[in-house]
Amino acid sequence: MPVVTAYLALGSNLGDRLGQMQQALERLAAGGVDVLQVSPVYENRAIGMGEAAPFLNAVAAVATGLAPLALLDHCLAVEQTLGRVRTEQWAPRTIDLDVIAYGELELVSERLQVPHPRIEQRDFVVHPLALIAPDLMIRGRRVADLAADLPADGLTLSGDSLQLPA
Ligand code: ADP
Ligand code: MG
Repeated sequence: MPVVTAYLALGSNLGDRLGQMQQALERLAAGGVDVLQVSPVYENRAIGMGEAAPFLNAVAAVATGLAPLALLDHCLAVEQTLGRVRTEQWAPRTIDLDVIAYGELELVSERLQVPHPRIEQRDFVVHPLALIAPDLMIRGRRVADLAADLPADGLTLSGDSLQLPA
């Protein structure tokens, strides 16, 4: 399997948010995902979730030999082991792991769309991504340019940091 650089988004607004994000990185690394770089952690209001607790969000650059769907399945399995319970859409979650990009691949399938379909509207993805991958192209646009066009109202650096798995 060729090794590809992929980008993952991590989010949590339930429980030990930072601890669960760190655990997610460790568990991703235990399953064929080499975590190369992690963005600073942002705190974000919970969009569309009423009075829900604020999210911590970050993105990671990874190298992996996993195929796209295998990477998605690994992310979903890690979510499961960290107690993610899928109820209604937008429900609070211990951890959300989304595949933001998989190399240059553009794929729309039933279970996986890459680049992730809602990147451009998500300040909590675009801004951390711009810090670690400003030149990454998403649907023909540089991430740095997406960030310049997207206000970061409601987004603050939390001051926390995630460690690369040992
Ligand atoms: P959301 O992340 O939008 O809150 P979920 O985490 O519950 O929603 O994911 C719902 C489904 O989205 C997943 O089961 C997966 O099949 C699908 N999906 C499609 N594209 C992606 C992607 N790029 N990253 C993660 N999940 C994706
Ligand atoms: Mg998700």
